[in-house]
Amino acid sequence: MTYPAATGDFRPDPAAQPAYAEERSAVIDLEAIRHNVRHLAAVASPAQVMAVVKADAYGHGAVPVARAALSAGANWLGTAHISEALALRAAGIEAPLLAWLHTPESNFAAAVAAGVDIGCSGWELERIVAAAREQERPARVHLKVDTGLGRNGATLEAWDGLVGEAMEYQDQGLLRVVGIFSHLAVADEPERPETDEQLAAFREALAIARDAGVDPEVRHLANTPGTLSRPDTHFDLVRVGLGLYGLSPFEGQRSEELGLRPAMTVRTVVSHCKDVPAGQGVSYGLNYRTGGASTLGLIPLGYADGVPRIATGGPVRVDGVNYPVVGRIAMDQMVIDLGPLNVSAGGTSVLGAEAVLFGNGDDGGPTAEDWARAAGTNNYEIVTRISPRVPRRYINEEPARDGSRP
Ligand SMILES: *Cc1c(COP(=O)(O)O)cnc(C)c1O
Repeated sequence: MTYPAATGDFRPDPAAQPAYAEERSAVIDLEAIRHNVRHLAAVASPAQVMAVVKADAYGHGAVPVARAALSAGANWLGTAHISEALALRAAGIEAPLLAWLHTPESNFAAAVAAGVDIGCSGWELERIVAAAREQERPARVHLKVDTGLGRNGATLEAWDGLVGEAMEYQDQGLLRVVGIFSHLAVADEPERPETDEQLAAFREALAIARDAGVDPEVRHLANTPGTLSRPDTHFDLVRVGLGLYGLSPFEGQRSEELGLRPAMTVRTVVSHCKDVPAGQGVSYGLNYRTGGASTLGLIPLGYADGVPRIATGGPVRVDGVNYPVVGRIAMDQMVIDLGPLNVSAGGTSVLGAEAVLFGNGDDGGPTAEDWARAAGTNNYEIVTRISPRVPRRYINEEPARDGSRP
């Protein structure tokens, strides 16, 4: 087999190129997203699904993912920041949308104006009410209780007071308590007892709210691992992030076993291929040397693209073989040792061959989990850290009913 020469650096209209023809891309399969939403919705039913699209949809692209998720049956969207929620509104997305991580600098007025639901752990309440007054529009609020994670959310001690104040403002028409929620700490380790403790604390918080007259539309607690392993955490709504992207939250359980399909493939093409003698040092620090005469392949992705610098040994698939990265991962590039191809003596070069870092794992292909292992991290971080330097390309887009692109 021969390969085309490596292509030029600049494509005037990359969107016009098929994804596979590009030098570097993160290919996002929107049918995989839709499949995962349908599957998670079936698992969660009768609870509804909130598609969590914070952090640019874990690196997959917030707007296209949000649209795909809504088209497949997600009822809600979730982001961490109000700014992320406003970007979705600016793109014309009108679905119910919750943002839950704020600072005193957050633009609560813009959130109220855009009809963005606001998570409230306590201190935000006065700001939210001020924003509602300014906008002459009631705010939509989800009160958050800390049931054990120790991040935001009111403590159970402060809960009573928060609920009481919120209800006073609701009676004044300044806000509506739309939801009550909390977040799980260890649901990815189903054998641990703390999820039961959090569930009990959440029920207690719900009872306190009920006694104070709160009648929320949605009570929500479960993340992806809770959704998949603990039906008793589903309540009215599950907030799924990782599963939406087709990744498994459980150590030792693959996506496929959970009925999920990984949506992101990070791939490039081999940019150099050459024979080297035994003992050839590779990359900064010369931490790797070839064991015998061999052939090195240069992969034009590095830590500026979001490949963890620490992840030497992570797999790159070329021609159906997964090769571990050898030597240090640099800013723009990394190296695989292909074994002796004898390119100079007529062997086939892999210059220009497709090189896949991770994808859906079909046919033994590398996965985000393989890279997580190599980097000492989790699959969440591997997909989320793929940088804007790597163009996102969307496949299996579904045309919208009005004929515009999804
Ligand atoms: C990120 C996040 C989620 C989604 O978690 P996954 O494990 O990715 O499903 C849900 N709720 C909150 C509050 C979050 O911050």
